[in-house]
Amino acid sequence: MRLPIQIERLYLDFDGFFASVEQQARPHLRGCPVGVTPFAGAEHTCVIACSREAKLRGVKNVMPIAEARERCPDIILVPQTPDLYRRAHNALLSEISAVIPVDAVKSIDELTCRVAPADRDEPLTLAKRIKARIAENIGPYLTCSVGFAANRQLAKMACKAGKKLDERSYGDGCAIWFPRDMPAPLLRLELKDIPGVGSRMESKLFRAKIHSMADLLATQPKHMRKLWGNVTGGRLWYALHGYDIQTPPSGRGMYGHGRVLPPENRRPEHARSASRLLATKAGRRMRRDGWNAGRLALWLDLMRDGSCSRSRGLPAVHDDQAILSALQSLWDEVGDSLPPRARVMRLGVTLFDLTRASERQLDILLDDDATRRRWERATEAIDALNRKYGRTLVSIGPWTPPPGGYAGGKNQLHAHSARRGFLVSP
Ligand SMILES: [Mg+2]
Repeated sequence: MRLPIQIERLYLDFDGFFASVEQQARPHLRGCPVGVTPFAGAEHTCVIACSREAKLRGVKNVMPIAEARERCPDIILVPQTPDLYRRAHNALLSEISAVIPVDAVKSIDELTCRVAPADRDEPLTLAKRIKARIAENIGPYLTCSVGFAANRQLAKMACKAGKKLDERSYGDGCAIWFPRDMPAPLLRLELKDIPGVGSRMESKLFRAKIHSMADLLATQPKHMRKLWGNVTGGRLWYALHGYDIQTPPSGRGMYGHGRVLPPENRRPEHARSASRLLATKAGRRMRRDGWNAGRLALWLDLMRDGSCSRSRGLPAVHDDQAILSALQSLWDEVGDSLPPRARVMRLGVTLFDLTRASERQLDILLDDDATRRRWERATEAIDALNRKYGRTLVSIGPWTPPPGGYAGGKNQLHAHSARRGFLVSP
């Protein structure tokens, strides 16, 4: 594996994206603490994104509205306008591409680029060029933070570290982690600052007597692999040590969707039917890209009772019947553990452990090939009909979108990043 001696990657993340798009589009919101909510007028939901002014007053993404109001009584709540965010995303992408080729779009407000040799000594100039172009051609309220490092993982961490330098500033950051300066900037971070390390993984590391970044860096790759229970741990070791670690051949780790449920649709049966839609949508995207999933996860954020999540292995499948029946088993398990009168505020489903659909190995123990192929053919026919006649003409089982439709893309992505710790732990 190659150990770069210069910075090679840039990671760019827009600051409070939904909220800053709203501020750019609606002048009366500029300079105000703004919280974007999934629905208009619903008090019992959460803020899905907030402006820098709100962030500096202690409001966080995915915070219940009541708590956000407590911290910031003059917060202005605006319902999300996903269409506006998509248009902003496209416009921003084309402005950035005029300065530097975009290597991968990671989400509606995050992307990475390779840094050309000519820019490697002067990354700050490159960051300024990107920011100036956005400010001039789109607007000065859409600020972003940029991180530079030897590889994508470190660049992402640098980007996040540069976003909040102190208590009085947020966003418009630029952090440059030259390989020659490593690991000093990393040592200032906590374990939970590593993307993918959630509270579960953090506790697991604590139990293994790894309490700081220094402790983690002192481990061996195979130790980290064992702690994570899969290759992610080993890969992370190399990434943290500055190696040029290629993205897994899959090019992506998971397909998932999440949503916030409207207040009147939060009983477990509502969540259950919403989860079927989310799983079907995720399965459809995964098939279109040619993948099979080896695991399905379901997670729920409950109104007052914390959160719960379950996952289940799949025999490398991509058809709706396999995915939906695994989902049903997950619900059967979850159902027993939910407190009486539980209310689900947010939920999500994720398909992961991806392998190429063209390379499905026959599972000798399972001997499901004939059945699987029948369901795959049925699913292909359903996809073809839905493609031809509109989004969902045919589905396996009921298809009842909850009121309010789907929460926007960013919301789903938040859900993912918040849950990744859970997803990668065995
Ligand atoms: Mg962002």
